Amino acid sequence: MDVTTRWIMLLVIMLAAGLSGCSMTDDYKATLEVSVMGEGTTTPAKGTSHFVPDTLVELQASPAAGWVFSHWQGEVADPKSPHTSIVVGEQAAATAVFVPRGTILEAPGGLIYSRTDGSQVTARPGGTKDIEYIMVHAMSDAAANPADPYRIDRIRTIFHDYAVESHYVIDRLGRIYQFVEDGLVARHAGRGAWGEDPRLTDNMNRYAVGIELLGIGTDAEMIPVIGADSNSAINPSDRGYTEEQYNALRQLIGLLQERYSIPRENIIGHRDYAPTRKWDPGVLFDWSRL
Ligand SMILES: [Zn+2]
Repeated sequence: MDVTTRWIMLLVIMLAAGLSGCSMTDDYKATLEVSVMGEGTTTPAKGTSHFVPDTLVELQASPAAGWVFSHWQGEVADPKSPHTSIVVGEQAAATAVFVPRGTILEAPGGLIYSRTDGSQVTARPGGTKDIEYIMVHAMSDAAANPADPYRIDRIRTIFHDYAVESHYVIDRLGRIYQFVEDGLVARHAGRGAWGEDPRLTDNMNRYAVGIELLGIGTDAEMIPVIGADSNSAINPSDRGYTEEQYNALRQLIGLLQERYSIPRENIIGHRDYAPTRKWDPGVLFDWSRL
């Protein structure tokens, strides 16, 4: 072995030692693969990112214009929230799913056909030909969870607790969830009357599709319903309705109007039908935006 070969060998050994001792490549050996379905962006960006093993990584999903964030696939902390986290052990993967605005998503837990009390959700006596009205409502979990009032996975329980249900629920991000088929009678209107039509008196559920916006009204509207204590715990930004909700509602109403030939004057609020009992969707709802 000549001197040159010996020097080259030494250099190779030093390089190998240097590389294996390099803390950057060694520590950041866990990978997170982020994918996107539909149109939108994520943080970390789509592709492979490197982390120290067992890092808790924050995830953010932002829909493109005309799209809505639906959910995450993968072992994220909260699949329904655009801002969540994932523990990257050695290898992890998460996919942000976006859907076109106006897409109807099935309710968490599926459509409601039978209730927890054993009763069935029955068909409209005249089938979908009975559908003449759209009733706009508001609901939230503000009575039980005023500081976190909009979790979609609480809705089914609230429906059960109050012995009601609605065909659709539109959440704060503009996600449209269907809970009850259009052709079935959902219990959303209750007692009330409308116009000069005695068929509708205490019987609007037969003729109306119910749409619940996740929303909270003014102090004056909420205090009689949920009490002063819960009302005072509501985050001010949780009152009223979001831009995404108006966009989604317009699309859903357009679809229903077309499907069932419902005229504009037959789109009414719950309070219009039952003014002595109900406040929703209330003074914060801007009807001109329909
Ligand atoms: Zn209502």
